[in-house]
Amino acid sequence: MRYFILLLMIFMAFVLPSYLFATKDSFRMAKDHQYVVSSNPSTPNSDFLRLNNDETTNFEKMISKIRKTNYSSPTEWGESVSGVIDRIPTNENVIALTFDACGGEWGSGYDQELIDYLVTENIPATLFINSRWIDANLEEFLYLASLEQFQIENHGTEHRPLSVTGQTAWGIKGTTSVEEVLSEVTTNHLKIIELTGHTPKYFRSGTAYYDEIAVKIVESLGMKVINFDILGDAGATYSPKQVKEALLKAKSGSIALLHMNQPTKGTAEGVKLAVPLLKEQGFQFVTLDEGFKFSQ
Ligand SMILES: [Zn+2]
Repeated sequence: MRYFILLLMIFMAFVLPSYLFATKDSFRMAKDHQYVVSSNPSTPNSDFLRLNNDETTNFEKMISKIRKTNYSSPTEWGESVSGVIDRIPTNENVIALTFDACGGEWGSGYDQELIDYLVTENIPATLFINSRWIDANLEEFLYLASLEQFQIENHGTEHRPLSVTGQTAWGIKGTTSVEEVLSEVTTNHLKIIELTGHTPKYFRSGTAYYDEIAVKIVESLGMKVINFDILGDAGATYSPKQVKEALLKAKSGSIALLHMNQPTKGTAEGVKLAVPLLKEQGFQFVTLDEGFKFSQ
């Protein structure tokens, strides 16, 4: 008994404080962590390496291979260039609602009405989240990521069109090089992993514009580029009626692009009008992962 008490005292005096300290320290590290892949290929980035597990080691290998690849000049630019997926190849009556959260000065809102509706009705959906939106809505982000019905995916770091040559879309200058494409995709990718434990499989750029080389780079990082065949709210500019009409054009395997960051616009009302009608038509709502299981 005396030995037991002695051991207990040693444990409390030395082991317990170091454990508590380590936990606090790693928490602080996770909060302050900057997920920037080194722009100089010859200098490994210590922040990035600090994540240190099999997955990130693999990811590093992919990045290093991309940096060594001699890519040809892109010949395509737009929303449906080679490699972009805009619907689930199936004849089953499934539809994937996807909601972008773009972040930035005019794009960091949280559409409570929309999310509450999806949760209450238990409608599965895929949420493409930008790094700036996460920073502005960390609590909401963690809440959404904790819900089974939502699949969290990557909507970029600075919300830039994905180009290796600096092409522009909707007045927003795209990334200008392979290195900037890597940074735009991987910075937010690593952030989502660190915060949720979930590894994104799908990417959609800010503006949904790409060149085909940038798409290839995303694929080489182990992700697929997902766009849409239904423009659900046209950048959250549609009225509820327009959103409803757009969604009612759904076909088997449709992917609808909508927004969850514009609470004052017509998206939530439009979704609420369309969902019951789509159900009546026999449509099943799926996340992208669930949807691709129906691929033919
Ligand atoms: Zn966006």
